[in-house]
Amino acid sequence: MYRFSRFWRHLSPALKLTIAYLSILMLISLFFSIVLYNLAANQLESSLRRQYVKLTPGNTIVIPRGPNPVQVEEEIDNARQNLLLELVYFNAIILALSGLISYLLARQTVKPIEDALEAQSRFTADASHELRTPLTAMQTEIEIALRAKKMPISEARELLQSNLEEVVKLRNLSDGLLRLARADSNGKNLATTKINLAKAVKEATERVATAAKAKQIRIINEVKNVWVAAEKESLIDLIVILLDNSIKYGDKKTEVKISHSTSANHVKLLVSDNGPGIAKKDLEHIFERFYRADDSRTKQPGGGYGLGLSIAAKIAQLHGGSIGVKSAIGKGSVFTVVLPKSNS
Ligand code: ADP
Repeated sequence: MYRFSRFWRHLSPALKLTIAYLSILMLISLFFSIVLYNLAANQLESSLRRQYVKLTPGNTIVIPRGPNPVQVEEEIDNARQNLLLELVYFNAIILALSGLISYLLARQTVKPIEDALEAQSRFTADASHELRTPLTAMQTEIEIALRAKKMPISEARELLQSNLEEVVKLRNLSDGLLRLARADSNGKNLATTKINLAKAVKEATERVATAAKAKQIRIINEVKNVWVAAEKESLIDLIVILLDNSIKYGDKKTEVKISHSTSANHVKLLVSDNGPGIAKKDLEHIFERFYRADDSRTKQPGGGYGLGLSIAAKIAQLHGGSIGVKSAIGKGSVFTVVLPKSNS
């Protein structure tokens, strides 16, 4: 029993499900085979007997000329054996075919669950790693400071300043994680209303105004009154993420332009910057959680945790829209968000 449970534990979920499917199918098939065998064997026996043994109206047995009773019994036995053999073949074919089909079905059923679990454990590992880095930095600094017998006030201030920077990083990370969790859980009940995109862009622009001012980056809002079906705060969050990145990664005294175009059912929002651009090898990954282009973090002191664009993509997806980017190193980036148009 213990051996079996150890063996069972080591099987992949797809194999376990295959065995479960197969057991049910084989149980049904065996049950019907036994019933069929009994019915058919009885039928066969009585029809064979009827062929050789006839009852007269007075119930006198008349054995017609032909095989003797021993031969009849042999024939009945042979017929039973043939029937049994055919049923065994039939069950073997069912076992092979349903085994294959069950495995394919089980793989299909289990694959999304396995993918989700893997993504979740990758996410937890990444998040823990990101939390560890600032915590370790703070721990080391505090330990070194505590070992010193005396500490000039200027050094103490420096230490606090450095710790504060790490705390801000941790705060940003937890904000990002919270936003992501909220986007994940609110997803299905996103309450969209008719939103004026120009107003949402204006609000988002105001939220990043201080950061833009610090780098003397000019934000040009060219979006005119156009209505989208969206959840206001999420939409503003999405635009803030894109603007924030353009400012964060852009050079001083550059420009960020926000414009739009419309089609029958959709509104396309474009956020273009003339910043450093994104390398081709990074482009396909930047919407993944915790993905940062190679040296963005080391280059940019304010660089984030690679969560912003994955949140933006999630928000766009929850609105039934999409997000995309066109960029090349040295040529700036254009982020495109497609949202459903509000026709009401
Ligand atoms: P982060 O929080 O690190 O900014 P994001 O998910 O928002 O993470 O962005 C992922 C990566 O995409 C960033 O590390 C950066 O390298 C790149 N990126 C995003 N927006 C821009 C931009 N406007 N210009 C250049 N690189 C960008």
